[in-house]
Amino acid sequence: MAIIIDGKKISTLIKEEIKNQVEKIISKGGRAPHLAAVLVGEDGASLTYVSNKVASCKQVGFKSSLINLPYEIKEEKLLREITRLNNEKEVDGFIVQLPLPKHIDEDKVLLAINPKKDVDGFHPTNFGKMALNMETFVSATPYGIIELLKRYDIDTNGKHTVVIGRSNIVGRPISILMSRKAKLGNSTVTVVHSRTKNLKFFTNNADIIISALGVPNFLKANMVKNGVVIIDVGITRVKDLNKRKGYVLKGDADFESVKEKASYITPVPGGVGPMTIASLLQNTLKAYKINFEGSK
Ligand code: NAD
Repeated sequence: MAIIIDGKKISTLIKEEIKNQVEKIISKGGRAPHLAAVLVGEDGASLTYVSNKVASCKQVGFKSSLINLPYEIKEEKLLREITRLNNEKEVDGFIVQLPLPKHIDEDKVLLAINPKKDVDGFHPTNFGKMALNMETFVSATPYGIIELLKRYDIDTNGKHTVVIGRSNIVGRPISILMSRKAKLGNSTVTVVHSRTKNLKFFTNNADIIISALGVPNFLKANMVKNGVVIIDVGITRVKDLNKRKGYVLKGDADFESVKEKASYITPVPGGVGPMTIASLLQNTLKAYKINFEGSK
């Protein structure tokens, strides 16, 4: 029976640590770190994610701004807004909530963000630094996963880690981090994806599985070995008319069956999800230290 990794508890601890640091800054006469979030359109899920990020800023004493732009906004106008945020002295870091409407080139927007304010860690400069094991903003979800492994003292050295999914925001970066020459790394990493043949062969040989594909209940008990560590990143809304919201959140793992074989497992919700926001706040505090304190 697995130990349930409590992402909610760890994220609360991290927020407490950040709050203490902010209180120290303010008591010395400094200003609060400031995170801005750009949201284009009114997609329900995106609005929820951004609102949670803004609410978390409040909890730790950060200033936050939500810039909600209309869905029809022209690309040039959005790029002008990015330039404004790049130059705004009192904004330490900002994020552009994805996905963007189809008529906007996401890569162009990403490249327009000043890497020093890119607290999502999506800019190629920051992604490259992460891959080279240099100091940078590691994107929030992979950063949160590393933090969970660290705080639960899970040994990754020499272990076989299988990452399911190769997206730029989760699968790819976490596969790089897990193979780095670092205490929280030194894993032998296999990345499996939609074109992998006999995926089960790889998962059955994994000591650690990090699943980021977004298919509910994909990972079944017959796909994992005894003692495996399962980090379930997937979050899918599954229709459930018995719930007030009309849906439940499901991870990629068939939680009830795999938890009997795993040594550690993250639940959904309450596992990786809360860590993503905590990591974003950690990156914002770092940006504040680089941009504001560093410029004094
Ligand atoms: P994505 O859609 O960009 O990528 C999914 C990946 O899964 C792809 O690389 C694809 O090759 C792979 N895949 C799809 N079907 C597969 C299959 N049948 N077998 C093997 N591989 C398959 O997704 P993403 O943005 O990385 O997100 C993945 C999941 O993680 C989603 O459910 C998303 O909501 C969730 N997510 C959670 C957080 C968090 O904070 N917890 C953050 C980001 C993403």
